[in-house]
Parts: sequence; structure tokens; C-alpha cells
Amino acid sequence: MTDSTSKPGARVFCIANQKGGVGKTTTAINLAASLAQHRKRVLLVDLDPQGNATMGSGIDKNNVAVNLYQVLIGESTVEQATVRSESGGYDVLPSNRELSGAEIDLVQMENRESQLKQALHQVSNRYDFILIDCPPTLSLLTLNGMAGAHGVIIPMQCEYFALEGLSDLVNTIKRIYRNLNPDLELIGLLRVMFDSRVTLQQQVSDQLESHFGDKVFKAIVPRNVRLAEAPSHGLPGVIYDRSSRGAKAYLAFGEELIRRVGANRRAAA
Ligand code: ATP
Ligand code: MG
Repeated sequence: MTDSTSKPGARVFCIANQKGGVGKTTTAINLAASLAQHRKRVLLVDLDPQGNATMGSGIDKNNVAVNLYQVLIGESTVEQATVRSESGGYDVLPSNRELSGAEIDLVQMENRESQLKQALHQVSNRYDFILIDCPPTLSLLTLNGMAGAHGVIIPMQCEYFALEGLSDLVNTIKRIYRNLNPDLELIGLLRVMFDSRVTLQQQVSDQLESHFGDKVFKAIVPRNVRLAEAPSHGLPGVIYDRSSRGAKAYLAFGEELIRRVGANRRAAA
């Protein structure tokens, strides 16, 4: 058992993009596994009723005793609901379709946007990183994720309409920062499913760099079939085929994030 009092609380990051199928869950799972490979203690919170982050971590979403739903409505603690991803080397707060009912239950609760934040507070000292895989909506669930986080990581494909969607998301983050969570910051944009042979993707990537500068992570995740195959084996891509280009990119991303967060902390001190 690690000493939970000797370290400050975990850094809590949402993986968010209101667009569907852009690589949020793939990023959440592989970043969790990458950080674990770099000897960090990680909790992955599956905030999506689809339960893909749970399944992709090798945990059967329909066969868990309790899940995030019970935690959010106060019927379970985070400890009771947490399951170990043996394959990934990190902990998971699992979800399944039951979680979609939380939207309705939360509306009636006081402090409905801060239930997740309060719950995660119980375990913050046990982890170096808590990653929250958000659903593809700006729902009350996503709001709970952002209200409880220090920052947002946005995975995105370098497509024409991506920039438009991005400004909506950045405005949402600003609104949450002003009204709900003054700690929230944009940690960075991660280019995923990237194909440098496609001229448009290269152009959008260049535009991103000129608009967002240092907020664009140096690591770029290529389109790589090994990353897409891995969830059907219940393994993070980083573990499934460590030598694949996709795995290498996520391992580099984990390292970059550790460096970047360390630098932020020093700058804030
Ligand atoms: P949703 O909005 O439904 O939650 P998402 O943003 O979480 O989706 P993923 O589920 O991570 O997106 O990815 C969508 C699909 O793209 C999946 O089939 C996944 O395996 C595939 N995929 C993700 N990243 C890559 C990649 N770098 N290379 C190839 N396939 C990828
Ligand atoms: Mg997802």
C-alpha cells in the first residue's frame, strides 16, 4: 500500500470533445496505460454510459458490482466501485448504460454539477493522475467532469470542420472556468488519427499550431490499426503492441504530459 499522505492530490484531467468518434476513449485508455508505464498511479474514470473505456481496459462493464452511477447518486464510494485494470496497470471507475439515468437523478440534486468532484476528493491522494473519459456531449455528466478537473485535454482529428467545433469547446471551457471552476485550464490539443500524407490534415495541423502555439502537444498520434484492434482484446494499444507506431505515440504523449504538468506546477509556484 502506498503512503497516501506524502504526496499532494492527483492532477485531474478530462479528455473531452463534443464531437463523437474523434478518439477520446482511445486517448483516455492509452494515456492511462502510458502514464502507468511511466510509473504513475492512475485512476481512469469512465464518464460515458457507452462504457467503452471500461471495456477497453479489460473490464466487463455488465459484470461489475457497482459503477459510477451509484457513486454519483451517493449510494457507493469511489473505493467500492473501483476495479483494477490488470492489463493496463491502472485503476478504473467503471460505467455502463445505467449511467445514462444519472442525468435525470442529478438534475434533482443540490450541487448537481459537483457530485463527481466531491466523490473524487475521497481518493485524490492515492493517485498521481485521474483521467476522465467524457461522453460526446456537453451534458450534465460532462459538466461534472469539467467541474472537478484541473484541465482539459482535447483529442482532435485535423479535418476542416474540427476548427469550428474547437471554438465551441474552448468557449464552453471558458464559461465553466468563469462560473463553476476557476482551476480549469486547457492543457492541450492532441492531434489523433493523423495522416501526414493528406494535405488538408497537414494544413489544419499547421493552422492549429499557429493559433494555439504551445497548447498543441508535440506528440502526434497516427492513424494506426493496432490501436483500433486493441479494445477487442481488452487491452490498451500501448500494451497490445508496444512496438506499433500508435503505441509509441501514446508513450511519448504520456512523457510529454508529465513534463508539461511538472513545468506548469513550477511556474505556478
Ligand atoms: P465517442 O464520441 O463515441 O465516445 P471517442 O471520441 O471516444 O468516441 P474512440 O472510441 O476512441 O472515439 O475512437 C473511435 C473509433 O476510432 C474507434 O473504433 C477507435 O478504435 C478508432 N480509433 C481511435 N484512434 C485511432 C487511431 N489513432 N488509429 C486508428 N483508429 C483509431
Ligand atoms: Mg468515447
